[in-house]
Amino acid sequence: MIPYGRQIIDQADIDAVTEVLTSDFLTQGPAVPRFEEAVKTATGAPHAVAANSATSALHIACMALDLGPGDTLWTVPNTFVASANVGLYCGATVDFVDIDPDTYLMSADALEAKLAKNPPPKVLIPVHFAGQTCDMERISGLAKAHGIRIIEDASHSIGATYKDTPVGACQFSDVAVFSFHPVKIVTTAEGGCATTQDAALARRMGLHRSHGVTRDPDLMTRQEGGWYYEQVTMGYNYRMTELQAALGVSQMQKLPEFINARHRIRARYDDLLAELPLVRPYQSPDGRSALHLYPIQVEDRARVFAHLRENGIGVNVHYIPVHLQPIYAAMGFKRGDFPNAERYYSRAISLPLHPGLTEADQDRVVKVLAMALQT
Ligand SMILES: *Cc1c(COP(=O)(O)O)cnc(C)c1O
Repeated sequence: MIPYGRQIIDQADIDAVTEVLTSDFLTQGPAVPRFEEAVKTATGAPHAVAANSATSALHIACMALDLGPGDTLWTVPNTFVASANVGLYCGATVDFVDIDPDTYLMSADALEAKLAKNPPPKVLIPVHFAGQTCDMERISGLAKAHGIRIIEDASHSIGATYKDTPVGACQFSDVAVFSFHPVKIVTTAEGGCATTQDAALARRMGLHRSHGVTRDPDLMTRQEGGWYYEQVTMGYNYRMTELQAALGVSQMQKLPEFINARHRIRARYDDLLAELPLVRPYQSPDGRSALHLYPIQVEDRARVFAHLRENGIGVNVHYIPVHLQPIYAAMGFKRGDFPNAERYYSRAISLPLHPGLTEADQDRVVKVLAMALQT
């Protein structure tokens, strides 16, 4: 099976992880700060807080923005469930903004229309689907006008740029969150990282990541001795291990190379698929995608998908609209609520796209796909 995505691990990665195993620290040592430095360098953000997943990073970002019961979080239906679930973790109400039918990203028009008819949410999570950046200039303009805080779900986007600025610099948001799951652009096995320009937000995310516990005299009510710490807010154990961070530091050195490879493969798909009856993925002129996914749209998706899978092509579908998941349907969401996300979903297939995909692999994907589309 040719997978739709997978990691690339080389000897340098193996050496980096092995070195940690015989060092003094398996957790809470120097590797996590080094990884955070690497993310700061890549994004230009002054602060980075690594966590054990992007989901955890989204959760601590919501907590740092004081999202709680009585508040509302809006995201898009065309995302992984985690972008919405973090609102529920905080006891907030979750609602959705439909996508643009051409870009598959949050529609600024739909956001504007929804804001005209509803009280604004406390937190908005636009999702940089497939590695392409949402229309952040317009979205942040609307958010500012309504006092909304923005967390970019940049899980697909480490290494991407938007209007010549790296995604994660947070020029148009409060926080950006990256995922380092093995199918994403670079990996720490499991892992995530939040970036921000706001030192206070970074400090709060750091507390929520680790039990809400601190030894910082400025944050504590008193001092009882060298052993003393205080829990000053609610927190979880969302820490990244040293092994993961060391892998991440090593992987981050290959980020430009991985993204260039993805662009080469994307350009080749664009050529090879030009004559087939399908819609190739939108490429935004506003920046350079990290190209996490290559989602095509076809008629008769179920049959085409099954044909590809039966012939060893590990295609996938991104995403089943979150509002149609049973847990969200039970809250009252239903088919027809977000028609652009639903229509896109009904035709979408993500083709294999990762730096290890050979030209022979790619030719096979295209051949099997062409056969499926002809029958
Ligand atoms: C992968 C992903 C997440 C969750 O990332 P984890 O690191 O697996 O927690 C969240 N949002 C989107 C859009 C993703 O693709």
